[in-house]
Amino acid sequence: MQVLKFGGSSVADATAMSRVLDIVSKAAEKDKVVLVSSAISGATDLLIKASGSSEEERNALLEELKKKHFKIIERLFTGREQFDTKESIEQIHKRLLEARRDDYQAFGELFSTTILAKKLAYEGLDTLWIDSVDLIRCKMGSVDKEYSYKRIREVVESHPEIRVFVAPGFIAGDENAQICTLGRGGSDYSAALYAAALGANTLQIWTDVPGIMTTNPKEVKKAQTISRLSYQAAFCLASHGAKVLYAPTVAPAQEAGIDIQILNSLDPKQKGSVICDYPAREEGEWIGIAKRVCGDTAELALVADGKIAQQSIEDVRMRLNKRDISQLEFRDEGNYLLLKVPVSQALDALATLHYFCFEKDDYRKVYLAGKGAVGSALLKIIAESDANIDICAISAHECEDEAFFRKMMEEASPNSIFVDCTDSESIWKWYVPVLEAGINIVSSNRRALSVPYAEYAAMKRSARLSRRFLRYETTVGTALPVLFSIATSAASSDEILSIEAVVSCTLNFILTSELPFAQALKKAQEIGLTEKDPSQDLLGRDATRKLLILAREAGVKLEEKDIEIEPVEEDKVRSNQRFVASLVKDDSSALGYKASIRMKEIDETHPARSLKGTENMIIIRSTYQPSPLIIQGAGEGAMMAASRVLNDILR
Ligand code: ADP
Ligand code: ASP
Ligand code: MG
Repeated sequence: MQVLKFGGSSVADATAMSRVLDIVSKAAEKDKVVLVSSAISGATDLLIKASGSSEEERNALLEELKKKHFKIIERLFTGREQFDTKESIEQIHKRLLEARRDDYQAFGELFSTTILAKKLAYEGLDTLWIDSVDLIRCKMGSVDKEYSYKRIREVVESHPEIRVFVAPGFIAGDENAQICTLGRGGSDYSAALYAAALGANTLQIWTDVPGIMTTNPKEVKKAQTISRLSYQAAFCLASHGAKVLYAPTVAPAQEAGIDIQILNSLDPKQKGSVICDYPAREEGEWIGIAKRVCGDTAELALVADGKIAQQSIEDVRMRLNKRDISQLEFRDEGNYLLLKVPVSQALDALATLHYFCFEKDDYRKVYLAGKGAVGSALLKIIAESDANIDICAISAHECEDEAFFRKMMEEASPNSIFVDCTDSESIWKWYVPVLEAGINIVSSNRRALSVPYAEYAAMKRSARLSRRFLRYETTVGTALPVLFSIATSAASSDEILSIEAVVSCTLNFILTSELPFAQALKKAQEIGLTEKDPSQDLLGRDATRKLLILAREAGVKLEEKDIEIEPVEEDKVRSNQRFVASLVKDDSSALGYKASIRMKEIDETHPARSLKGTENMIIIRSTYQPSPLIIQGAGEGAMMAASRVLNDILR
């Protein structure tokens, strides 16, 4: 069973209704459908107005409403079908004129669903209009679920031949079986009740926006669709003013374990949002902002998908202070922040928070540290490319330059990127404060990423919490998409079984050269392949850093002390060997993996046999890969590295 609910704007006129009929007919090909519909847009407001009007004005308003429905019928039906449908509407109109004024608002859904049910039936679908007043029963102001679910099931089960049940949303019956309503926006709730009663496998709420968005797109143009959110987050947004979903809708769906999809009836191909059961995070990320106005105060709820981190709260306060927004109240409610601001500042506060939490601009401001080979090549490529990049400041220093960082963090706008092309040992200490200032980082400095694990984890955490990126694809295998491939496996629960990395440009050069070892090493030093002190390469320093980065990307908390290193002994080196850094799954070790760096003999069939010059190779084996993923290609070159850095900046 599928339950599909359409809101007022999705049935606003004949064109909108045709779209609904299309969506429902397609769905009915797959499985039975309960179609729940709101009144056509504006109808409920008009009925409420009519209920408080003089007799004369009431008649005029109700006549206007009937005409609107007649107009739709004239577009959707012809001949006898048109006549019959108009007749049904005429009957409802007569009942309306005789109804108690308090009941007027319930009639909008009767009009709309009558038209939809008639049309589906005339199109040949086995259709039945069902009466929500009889099926959904309220007791002391809330829905009696036990009774209602039983009634809904009885009616549906007693009509096995029916393909599409059409039910008015919003309305229900009270203890005396008199008509009542579920509250404004209540059709969403009706749909969830039908879905829960029938154990539906699909519950779709079709509306006029692409889903639940980071905030109301009518107030902030750059609002983005939230693709997936928890019941809790959806409820929190809905109950604080995100009108797209009526808050009581969440409970019946959640109790029955049914996902709620929010879809756009104007563009049915869009993916929309899914509200489902997924665990709250220990440190939640911002997910959306809801706003509602109470008198001259506006209440903003900034909602996270888990517990809000202290740092994030401070950041929000700082942003509002910077814009001089008076915070009448500022409360941490665990998974959301509740702010009260004067109504006159509400839109400014909303825009400020939305910009800070969710927006990225389409041009990037770059602050570059390091003007060595890669940094200079990067400047050249940027100057030649038509990427929208604004170089705001350059620090030529090889190590940290306090004035440069202070300036960057002061002027930081959320789209800024700090690019580290240095090989500084200590510059990483700036990474966390830079991320926390809302600046992204692209780094080609592998020393910064091979720091002790706790420091590395702190950087990752800051990036996640401040919703900024930290990219460093060039730190292993330069332009080869190595880290990307490993992270993809790790993120899709394809467990890494082993990684063999032949990534030392110096040793690959020496081992594939015709020259004797000492001469080849000298040459490698001359052409700038080696560390400043070439003996460091033979001790595996560079390979160690690369292996740390690779392993951590695979989710292994590797530390330097965990790596078994056998330094290269010049006189024992053979050309059938390669200098291999490897990570191999090993359940007997505490980490779950063994890491080593050593010269390894490889036979004729080993892929690394084909390496030439400074080429790199990474061989990745994982559970779901039937044969290893082999990534091979050039391992060094300043222009190549720079172009990959640019890719990290732009992607
Ligand atoms: P329907 O008639 O389909 O029930 P509603 O008017 O009740 O539609 O709800 C959809 C409207 O909710 C949108 O047009 C939008 O202006 C408003 N809205 C408020 N907050 C949000 C949000 N966070 N995401 C999407 N829409 C929102
Ligand atoms: N028609 C009702 C209203 O306007 C219910 C709904 O649209 O969900 O509030
Ligand atoms: Mg609604």
